[in-house]
Amino acid sequence: MKKITIIGSGFSSLAASCYLAKNGFDVTIFEKNDQIGGRARQLKANGFTFDMGPSWYWMPDVFERFFNDFGKSASDYYKLEKLNPAYTVCFGKNDFITIEDTLEKIKAEFERVEKGSSIKLQKFIGDALDNYNIAIKEVVYRPGVSPLELVTPKTVKKVGQFFSTISKSVRKDFKNVKLISLLEFPVLFLGAKPSNTPAFYNFMNYADFGLGTFYPENGMYSIIEGISGLAKSLGVKIKTNQNVTEISTNNKTVTGIKVNDEFIKSDIVLSGADYHHSEKLLPENLRQYSEKYWDKKTFAPSSLLFYLGIDKKLKNINHHMLFFDTDFRKHAEEIYDEPKWPSEPLFYANFPSLTDKNAAPEGKETAFFLVPIAPDLEDTEELREKYYNIVLNRFEELTNQNIKSDVIYKKSFCVEDFKSEYNSYKGNAYGMANTLTQTAFLRPKLRSKKVKNLYFTGQLTVPGPGMPPSLISGKLVAGLILKDIK
Ligand SMILES: Cc1cc2nc3c(=O)[nH]c(=O)nc-3n(C[C@H](O)[C@H](O)[C@H](O)COP(=O)(O)OP(=O)(O)OC[C@H]3O[C@@H](n4cnc5c(N)ncnc54)[C@H](O)[C@@H]3O)c2cc1C
Repeated sequence: MKKITIIGSGFSSLAASCYLAKNGFDVTIFEKNDQIGGRARQLKANGFTFDMGPSWYWMPDVFERFFNDFGKSASDYYKLEKLNPAYTVCFGKNDFITIEDTLEKIKAEFERVEKGSSIKLQKFIGDALDNYNIAIKEVVYRPGVSPLELVTPKTVKKVGQFFSTISKSVRKDFKNVKLISLLEFPVLFLGAKPSNTPAFYNFMNYADFGLGTFYPENGMYSIIEGISGLAKSLGVKIKTNQNVTEISTNNKTVTGIKVNDEFIKSDIVLSGADYHHSEKLLPENLRQYSEKYWDKKTFAPSSLLFYLGIDKKLKNINHHMLFFDTDFRKHAEEIYDEPKWPSEPLFYANFPSLTDKNAAPEGKETAFFLVPIAPDLEDTEELREKYYNIVLNRFEELTNQNIKSDVIYKKSFCVEDFKSEYNSYKGNAYGMANTLTQTAFLRPKLRSKKVKNLYFTGQLTVPGPGMPPSLISGKLVAGLILKDIK
């Protein structure tokens, strides 16, 4: 039985482990932290439960397709609830737009804001559905080995959309700035500015308005528990507190890894840790990508996060809330064009205890605040505290309540934590952005070109950032390994 060692226990590693174990490999996962899940870890403190990373469950079909590959369904592992409202966007004091759970209701809300926009929205989402069917059902399941993978009779018809941007296509149909922000928001998950993201990626709008926003009972960590449960049932061994310090080779072929000073012999090594870090585990001459290569790439933002336990129930909140009451473009420029701490940050707040009574003790609220920032910014306690006050003061003002005096648990997480906890390049939160020049075959490769039997997976590879793409990445790399072994 071939022995395969996997570095890291994020979505992509866990997914790959399932496919490989199912196909007869002896699979062991080595995770440096004391908990599995990678960026989707869970934090429990003082009776509060926090999902540390992902909070938006989009594209339920991708999760379902993953479990179906093993004769299972997501519902065998966790119960999903479709959120209504899906989310609320705050544009200023008493100025909110709430996105509900059906396209009909969302169209009515658009019509309220801009007359005639509901018909345009119907058409826009129809086109987005078309792209969703091409992208998510077909193209993203190709391993990024050759540009020809992208050429299909359906994609050829859409070629123009690769050379226009989301920003342009949204502005062609919609004039109201709030509706424009709403339609530009979903591609932020792909890690780049809407003005730098191909129009074809409007399939994210279908994921948002067409499919909706879900929440797994007991939180996002239920997904990690589900997938790792499946992996274990297939025979995968998962080890935590295992910091891999070397990918060992002989004659340009993998021989194993070094972890806690021990050599673990392996026929194949697959790394789901950040790609840049993974290659640093090799001697320089066996790395495929130089420091210059990484430095030139557009990375998805890092984030300043606050996990807060609140000693009361809050009012005027929803499960997901986006605070777009400041200039969207300016903040984006301060992330991508002239990296610096944002002068007037947009931010996101999440209150899982509204949906999930286990997330907080009775009568209390679990809150998570996120400010997207440029990777590799200076990160100090003073700066974190400064932004804590900016964000919470704005939140108090906009939702008309005090909260700071009721915070009984507080933990922050920022650039330096992303680096130390996940070995993340420049402290990025969700990998490498999906821009035109960083799409599909133009992304870092799943298979090493320099070392035999060495593979990579995760959000820096194909198809890109997010839980669904990471699951798909795990499937793609496992497929490639199986093909190579035959
Ligand atoms: C704050 C935040 C919010 C997000 N929100 C969403 C969302 O709402 N919806 C969504 O779909 N996605 C979201 N994402 C993105 C999503 O979480 C990621 O795309 C996905 O989890 C990445 O999975 P991965 O497999 O690539 O790797 P990771 O989760 O990064 O896992 C890599 C693992 O490798 C381990 N590792 C690193 N170095 C070593 C080493 N030397 N030895 C052993 N182990 C090592 C790390 O500890 C880590 O566990 C969010 C991410 C963040 C950070």
